[in-house]
Amino acid sequence: MFQKLIVFLFLLPSILFSQELRRCGFLEAQDYLFKTDPETKAKVETAINGFEKQASSQNKNNSQALYTIPVVFHVLHLGGAENISDAQIFDALDVLNRDFNKQNPDTVNTVGAFQGIASDCQIEFKLATLDENGNCTTGITRHYDNASNWEISSSFYKYTWNRTKYLNIYVVKSLPPGVAAYTFLPGTTSAVMDAVVVLHNYVGSMGTGSPFGSRTLTHEVGHWFNLQHTWGSNNQPGVACGDDGVGDTPLTKGFNFCNLANSAICTSGVEENVQNYMEYAFCSNMFTLGQRNRMHNTLNSANAGRINLWSPGNLQFTGVFNPTVACAPKADFMANRAVACIGDTVMFTDYSYNGSVSTWEWSSVSASGSSTLQNGALVFNQTGSAHVKLKITNNNGVDSIIKNLVLILPAANSGSNNLIQSFEVPPFPDNNWLSTEPKYGSAFLTTSLSARSGSNCLWVNNFYDTPNEPVAFYTPAFVFQGFSPAQLSFYYAYAQKSTNSNDRLKVFVSTNCGWSWNQLLDMGGASLTTVQSTSNTAFFATAQQFNQGLLDLSDYADEQVYLKFEFSPDMNGPGNNLFIDDIMVSGVTGLKEQRRISGLRLFPNPAQSEICFQGTGTTIFHYFKLLDISGLCVFEVLRPANSNCFSLPESLKDGLYFLEVGSSSGTQTFKILIRK
Ligand SMILES: [Zn+2]
Repeated sequence: MFQKLIVFLFLLPSILFSQELRRCGFLEAQDYLFKTDPETKAKVETAINGFEKQASSQNKNNSQALYTIPVVFHVLHLGGAENISDAQIFDALDVLNRDFNKQNPDTVNTVGAFQGIASDCQIEFKLATLDENGNCTTGITRHYDNASNWEISSSFYKYTWNRTKYLNIYVVKSLPPGVAAYTFLPGTTSAVMDAVVVLHNYVGSMGTGSPFGSRTLTHEVGHWFNLQHTWGSNNQPGVACGDDGVGDTPLTKGFNFCNLANSAICTSGVEENVQNYMEYAFCSNMFTLGQRNRMHNTLNSANAGRINLWSPGNLQFTGVFNPTVACAPKADFMANRAVACIGDTVMFTDYSYNGSVSTWEWSSVSASGSSTLQNGALVFNQTGSAHVKLKITNNNGVDSIIKNLVLILPAANSGSNNLIQSFEVPPFPDNNWLSTEPKYGSAFLTTSLSARSGSNCLWVNNFYDTPNEPVAFYTPAFVFQGFSPAQLSFYYAYAQKSTNSNDRLKVFVSTNCGWSWNQLLDMGGASLTTVQSTSNTAFFATAQQFNQGLLDLSDYADEQVYLKFEFSPDMNGPGNNLFIDDIMVSGVTGLKEQRRISGLRLFPNPAQSEICFQGTGTTIFHYFKLLDISGLCVFEVLRPANSNCFSLPESLKDGLYFLEVGSSSGTQTFKILIRK
């Protein structure tokens, strides 16, 4: 209750007063099309001109009493509130049917000038009961998918059903800022993107939805049937008087708020249609007769196959006639972690849909047992990418799904200290060194085309075979006991394809079997390049073109750590090859036995120009050695005479150093920050 109140208070002022709240991303989406497909602008203009002619002519095909449209909702969720209930979707459909058939009680609020043309559009929407393959469906699909955090890009439309047979509505968790929903005019986008995308809390009037947001779909489906915003599609509302190509909607600048009293702005004495569903005024309650005719013309046009939607054959095909009622379930699930170690228990949450489930069976060839609980748990005994299968049944049938969600890391002690991995032998990847496969493109592979030492190194073929997502490799486990300081050294080589290339290399460390990762390094673009100039041919590195990367791991002393190298290709353009070689995990200052010097204190830290020390008892100090992060000694003093302090050379650069103190009671290394 408290939370609802906060949401309400938060929304109310932005609705009433904010000029920025938008409920439709139609213009942004169209901009995206213009950018990605140069021909689209012409397509949109042709489409709009064509529709103007259609709209101005009489509706020729009005014999149809009611157009029935089969609908499928694809709910993309991450297990949260965005996985809205079936009831919320039924409610959204009720709102859509009410508004398109002028059954909304607020028609009484329609201002006098428009009462005569407020129209029953005679279009009804029904959930499909047969999918594209003729299988029983509730007309609602649900997918645990990161695409729930949606971006306007063709790769996000993974589940679209044939747009000539169904109206596809994607329900998602987030959209670009300020956008509640968007779609495209018919014939202006690809078949797969010809769908409505809407935030879960703008679906229906209940659940996560609200009466206020519930007409978002009315507006979007208006676009899907060829309606533009009442002010046209070239400007934001409130900028310039514009025409939507519909004869009975007056010229208007469009409204961000419900300005009924003073709405004759563009043409003196002509009231504008503030309450139109294709406005942003948030008091909408009507389509006009002209808009109805334009939508009917669209439904009688081959454009984007809209004419097929309501045909008797399609209503049969989609199960809108003689609906089936009881479906076999569809399997879906999620793991509670993406990375685990051998012997760890991984929990799985059932997100099956399309019918109640009677039995569950969880299994994996990488796991020792199986589970028959709704939410299963498996213990893994093989390293690598684990394929997990969920099989479900009910009286109407069986379904199963295999997902590849968990990477199993090797056990403790799988990596030896002072290890050097130069990718000569053994083969990579193996049971200890793991590599992730992208859906498309190159993973980290060994190659003999470049090497810093020996004849092999690791390569991401990012020139000819760019991966479609970040790729990573994982090291075995290391325990740095007795190492001071522990560090990671590796060599990398990369050339930018152009100065805009922003391919990135990141390195992470985990102390909890991959449950969480701390980022140690992020290099990209020019900071990743190891050569003088860009290369617009495929880059292959000579031994001299490798740079060393050095990372301090002294914070992880005495812990078991796994390291992850991740390469993220620049998704805005083709990049170039990356090579990695000679990974060394060690303490460079060696395996020297370290004995704590009791009571020794060093100050100040950070140090500026001098370092002072204080010991206890009879300890005699022999030497102080300052080492840089690579373990190189940069300064050394023998026991300072008659003083407990010594000066640092002026030439020292700011940064992290290690101070090794040799004394009669032992040797100890300290981390010292020098800041001048
Ligand atoms: Zn819109």
